[in-house]
Amino acid sequence: MNLQKTDPKIYNLLKKEIKRQQEGMELIASENYVSRAVLEALGSVFTNKYSEGYPGKRYYGGQAYTDEVESLAIERAKKLFEAEHVNVQPLSGAPANMIVYSAVLQPGDKVLGMDLSHGGHLTHGHPVTLAAKIYNFVRYKTASDGLLDYQELERLALQEKPKLMLAGFSAYTRQIDYKKFCDIAKKVGAITMFDMAHIAGLIAGKVLPNPVPYFDIVTTTTHKTLRGPRGGMILCKQEFAKAIDKACFPGFQGGPHMNNVAAKAVAFKEASMPSFRGYAKQVVKNAKVLEEEMKNYGFKLLFGGTDNHMVLVDVFGSKGLSGKEVEVVLDEIGITVNKNMIPDDSRSPMDPSGVRIGVPAVTTRGMKEKEIKQIAAWINSAIENRKQKQALNKLRREVTQMCKRFPIPI
Ligand SMILES: *Cc1c(COP(=O)(O)O)cnc(C)c1O
Repeated sequence: MNLQKTDPKIYNLLKKEIKRQQEGMELIASENYVSRAVLEALGSVFTNKYSEGYPGKRYYGGQAYTDEVESLAIERAKKLFEAEHVNVQPLSGAPANMIVYSAVLQPGDKVLGMDLSHGGHLTHGHPVTLAAKIYNFVRYKTASDGLLDYQELERLALQEKPKLMLAGFSAYTRQIDYKKFCDIAKKVGAITMFDMAHIAGLIAGKVLPNPVPYFDIVTTTTHKTLRGPRGGMILCKQEFAKAIDKACFPGFQGGPHMNNVAAKAVAFKEASMPSFRGYAKQVVKNAKVLEEEMKNYGFKLLFGGTDNHMVLVDVFGSKGLSGKEVEVVLDEIGITVNKNMIPDDSRSPMDPSGVRIGVPAVTTRGMKEKEIKQIAAWINSAIENRKQKQALNKLRREVTQMCKRFPIPI
């Protein structure tokens, strides 16, 4: 009511966004819907409070409740991921990674990270980032069978002697052998870091193995499969706790966003419940169905298929359409995916060969195998009938109808 009165423009845009989310089929692998409880904490008066520092060691007074909130978030995260130390203040995934780099590296130090076109993330040393200007990133790739090439990784590690070895990805669909990776790092005395941003929810839900016991430092976002508020988090061994906390504040950030920390605490509680395990299981099941259906429709999948919540499809190689063209066609029928590079893509980043399709958001809405089969059929049909406006309109109505049957939590 207040928003409507004070700022009708923003209010109307909010209404439109709710309708867009409600009626659209969200298949962007990094998106999800938070619960009503998480939204409430996020929209709370904790946003009014400055809390620079850490529980018990703040710069300003009035921290009786913020200290409790942050401590709860930390304790819950520690338990959920069996971590020795947790920092819940990073504002998002990218700052979390930057904080880790600054905590353990000196300018010019060498980092071994996964190549972006092979599934890695921009923040893992892509030349356009600030991190790449400060540190020296060397990239490793996946082998032709789609799995991580551990032999090549070991050769590179021995040759480059990196200070930090980084695993983690946003478009890689297979499981990494944590032990193998860390054993290679040990051989060259490198610190190990895993960025579980995409799969944190599947780890919390115990359908994927937990990297936290293996790696020195683990970073994550809290808003992807973990289904919390938009934010970041760092989990580490006690040995790195002091350096990480100092690098976060005062090293890189100012005051934490306490409304966000409160919402993280709520999300961690939700993620520790049996129902969340059910959710995580269904996500992986749905992704597997999507993999099979897409293969049946003649699409080529990268990395040989999926072990997690998404598939990477070589649409150019299978149907002669670029990732961007497919993104646009699917948008016309109300299905949102994102164009994505495939390993050693011959096309450009703005018009690559692939699309990434993920099921965490539709699974939150309650969609199961049957609906995923239908979604795959719509994707195929939209691509085949892309020049027929009428056919696309019909598909769009069908997509909207199904979305209405599976409301989003608001
Ligand atoms: C999403 C993602 C990030 C960045 O997170 P933001 O919250 O967008 O800053 C970092 N690393 C990986 C692997 C990611 O998937």
